[in-house]
Amino acid sequence: MKINANYLKLNESYLFSTIAKKVAAYTQAHPDKKVLRMGIGDVTQPLAPAVVAAMRKAAGEMGEKETFRGYGPEQGYPFLKEAIRGYYASRGISLEEDEIFVSDGAKSDVGNILDIFDTDNTVLVPDPVYPVYVDTNVMAGRRIVFADATAENGFLPMPDEKTDADIVYICSPNNPTGAAYSSAQLAEWVAYARKKGAVILYDAAYEAFVSEKGLARSIFEVEGAKECAVEFCSLSKTAGFTGTRCGYTVVPRALVRGGASLNKLWLRRQTTKFNGVSYVVQRGAEAVFTAEGMAQVQKNLEVYRRNAAVLSGCLDSLGIHYTGGKNSPYIWMKCPGFSDSWKFFDYLLEKANVVGTPGSGFGKNGEGFFRLTAFASEEATKEAAERLRLLFSK
Ligand SMILES: *Cc1c(COP(=O)(O)O)cnc(C)c1O
Repeated sequence: MKINANYLKLNESYLFSTIAKKVAAYTQAHPDKKVLRMGIGDVTQPLAPAVVAAMRKAAGEMGEKETFRGYGPEQGYPFLKEAIRGYYASRGISLEEDEIFVSDGAKSDVGNILDIFDTDNTVLVPDPVYPVYVDTNVMAGRRIVFADATAENGFLPMPDEKTDADIVYICSPNNPTGAAYSSAQLAEWVAYARKKGAVILYDAAYEAFVSEKGLARSIFEVEGAKECAVEFCSLSKTAGFTGTRCGYTVVPRALVRGGASLNKLWLRRQTTKFNGVSYVVQRGAEAVFTAEGMAQVQKNLEVYRRNAAVLSGCLDSLGIHYTGGKNSPYIWMKCPGFSDSWKFFDYLLEKANVVGTPGSGFGKNGEGFFRLTAFASEEATKEAAERLRLLFSK
């Protein structure tokens, strides 16, 4: 018996456990201090009432002989796929129902999609970024090359003809930098992928946070993207489903490589290894896309947008450089006076009792940067901004 030795090559993920340890040690030594956690990547607003009502009703149906449901379609119930189709149509993107695959979240799909690609492919990953893209490819033993996201390019790397890649990851709006591509910039990536015969894996988990005109919410806004891209989306950040679990992936029929339809390969993969999302959750997800659900979800997103505005306003007034905040729940700030993200973490915890996420945890280019999130309560966010103002205005 041989293990998958690629797992031994993974970098230990110390980021969030180290943060938790440092915060625990600090609060133990200073029980009187109120520590504000601005580092979490999890939502705090509860589910929308329309979602809860739909799930209650669905749970009731499951308890009656006449309406009970067993296994559902692996790729999702038609009622939810129709709702997602309508959501895209409202933004001028037409999809076929069988191009949509419902899942338990974007993280699973982003990792699982790799099943349908050979390990002998070169993967292009932005740095810094959501660590799942790198780790899932290390597990499979693929070659990884990086696209540098830096302050110089606004944390939005553009394609370089000299780099050969077969699989290209794009996360926009980005976790952790909050930077978001315009449709025109994505068109350059689509042109690159088509020229190289590459496939773009587009993570749109934060599309609902885009508020500026001209910035993309879907790669399929770009002509020709259906021939070269897969899009992952999730209700986690959009509708507070981080604990409820529901996402969806779009694999266009027009996406063909090596003579094979990627849509068919993914369907085969999902019907073999996945038995679908629970009926109750899918009814809750369907409710997100109703007029009532959309309005309620927007109200929650408004809370996060106001929080982001409070934090950005504070950094603006202090003259501290940052990206994000406008079209993203993340604010990616330059560590003022520090080149080491962890030293800045310690300083901020000690002096302001504010917790964030050190940028170096997201890739080498994250060193010297720091991620704050807009997901905390409005009160905590205002207080954190005030403490930053006191600490850095001298
Ligand atoms: C939070 C997040 C997701 C969502 O994952 P789920 O499994 O749907 O909860 C996907 N991609 C990125 C970049 C994220 O930050």
